[in-house]
Amino acid sequence: MELIDTHVHLEEPAFDPDREQVIRRAGAAGVQTMINVGSSLEANQRGWDLARANSGIYAAMGVHPHEFKPGSEPELKELPEQLSREKVVALGEIGLDYHVFPDYPAPDRKAQQDGFSRQLELARIFELPLIIHIREAFDDALRLLRQQGPFPGGGVLHCYDGGVEHLPEVLDMGFHAGIGGTITYPRAESVRTVARTLPDDRLLLETDAPYLPPQEQRGKRNEPANVLKVAEAVARIKNISPALAAEQTSRNARQLFKISEHDPGVIVYNIQGHLYVNLTNRCSSDCVFCPRRVNRRVQNYELTLKREPRAEEIIAAIGDPRDYSEIVFCGFGEPLLRLAVMLEIARKVKSRGGWVRVDTNGQADLIFGRDILPECREVVDEWSISLNTADPEQYFKMVRPATGPGTHAAVLNFIDRAGQAGYKVNLTAVEMPGVQTTGLQALAKGLGVRYRGRAYQKLGEPEDK
Ligand SMILES: [Zn+2]
Repeated sequence: MELIDTHVHLEEPAFDPDREQVIRRAGAAGVQTMINVGSSLEANQRGWDLARANSGIYAAMGVHPHEFKPGSEPELKELPEQLSREKVVALGEIGLDYHVFPDYPAPDRKAQQDGFSRQLELARIFELPLIIHIREAFDDALRLLRQQGPFPGGGVLHCYDGGVEHLPEVLDMGFHAGIGGTITYPRAESVRTVARTLPDDRLLLETDAPYLPPQEQRGKRNEPANVLKVAEAVARIKNISPALAAEQTSRNARQLFKISEHDPGVIVYNIQGHLYVNLTNRCSSDCVFCPRRVNRRVQNYELTLKREPRAEEIIAAIGDPRDYSEIVFCGFGEPLLRLAVMLEIARKVKSRGGWVRVDTNGQADLIFGRDILPECREVVDEWSISLNTADPEQYFKMVRPATGPGTHAAVLNFIDRAGQAGYKVNLTAVEMPGVQTTGLQALAKGLGVRYRGRAYQKLGEPEDK
């Protein structure tokens, strides 16, 4: 029986004395896969260290509503870089929590909403599933989710206690509900009703350990092995076997967080001596002409990833980079959404004497909130940056960036700075019928970079170097 704990805080100090035994006990109970959920930048880092060290642990990163206190709002500046790392499968936990604790200052609703909104924007840019925490704030949270959605990566309302009355809207927005130890509490009849009502493909199991242990262990520290108790309770309520409950919920978790042990698919492909790296299928743009919208094919290669490849897998697939005229990071998606992973691979390619080009939409400034060019300097030789049109309004309609209306100007600025920093730079465009390219050529000339147009009909053919 395979179980997945989709919400655990193993990085918390409560597990300092015996973390390894806790992980081992989980494995013995069938819980070999877990999503460690961060709640602050520091917790995210500790969770990531655990994910790096344990093959079955994945990381979610986000800043919890409790962190947004009046006068001490947390920095989110480092969050995009954290999201770009390997094994980061979700953004969370984020949300709203209006619960008033005795002897604590009342929660700052405005600050929480603001922090939630800023992180929801990142979820749209990174196309990551959301892990959402809502307590005594359902109406405000659902309103913000409705306003800022839809979210291409979907998400889960963790430890769901919105009752059946909020379920139609939650399901309509495409979200899952996380069910945990509270399902065993005598007074939690509404959680049991929710578990009974939820469609089979929308239910996820979780522990929220070290918090919320099942009834028989209340007052004690919770741990991920207890997801078995949750599965048994869900099975009883749904009148199915625990094995079936485990199977259904594990499948849901694997689909939502894209954690599969399967072969990822085509991760590198060779077109006339250029080796292309298929790093991700996620993208912060949604170009009207993008083949990823149609069939995800380039020449004879079908580029749908069943999961995102790890750096070591790509490095092995590249082999000796000197066998190719260049190594190109592209993918049916934006490679810089995996900036940390891309840099790790590029470092290896450079050390082995290869040439590195990155095909990008040039939105990095807006995605990361800072200039990423300096840190790429040692390992990237060349940028191909797609602008597609000289007209900002047309750009917004054609490229449909999740980074908002100021994107065209930011991309131009990125191209300009890359040229000045001494990189080889191509300003690129997919030449659509009816789109003027003379303006683009003039722009490229003014910035001192090369213009490279590609006929819409010829997408997927290699650019000559
Ligand atoms: Zn939690």
